[in-house]
Amino acid sequence: MNRRQLLTGFVKGKEQGFIRPPYTSAQTDFSPCKECDAPCVEVCEEGVLFRDGEGIPALSFKERGCSYCGECLKSCPHGVISESSKTIRAKVQIDPQRCSAWNGVLCFSCKEPCLDNAIKFNGLYKPVILPDRCTSCGFCVSVCPTNAVKVVANEDA
Ligand code: SF4
Ligand code: SF4
Ligand code: SF4
Repeated sequence: MNRRQLLTGFVKGKEQGFIRPPYTSAQTDFSPCKECDAPCVEVCEEGVLFRDGEGIPALSFKERGCSYCGECLKSCPHGVISESSKTIRAKVQIDPQRCSAWNGVLCFSCKEPCLDNAIKFNGLYKPVILPDRCTSCGFCVSVCPTNAVKVVANEDA
């Protein structure tokens, strides 16, 4: 979380801070977005893109995740979404206090949609997200019945 977000205490559901689209970086200049019709939001097949209060696109994993389909990259008329790296700059974590499987209840809801096999269970319990495998796609977030999967934006990464 950057300083502005710390100061404003911005929290959006289980997501903290604005998570920027894939194919952007800490060096991306988002200023053209403010004057743009945001075709990226229209073409997103998963419906995970929205515009923040300044008109800059951001991701929400409240209902779906990012499939890395690349349509936002192709649609951007100003070269803002343009990086070759598809990385989403956010950290995904499981909160052991909220997670059923950390508290003796069987649950694998987050593991099933994780195509990157990035959630490791210790036997049947205590799942953790492997940072070297996780692509921050967010598909594990909305399926969690206890809101235990948290996403923290890292716009400076
Ligand atoms: S890569 Fe595809 S799913 Fe992901 S934000 Fe862009 S348009 Fe949406
Ligand atoms: S955000 Fe990470 S842990 Fe969750 S489904 Fe995607 S790759 Fe797997
Ligand atoms: S879906 Fe949620 S409650 Fe279930 S194991 Fe995953 S993090 Fe825990």
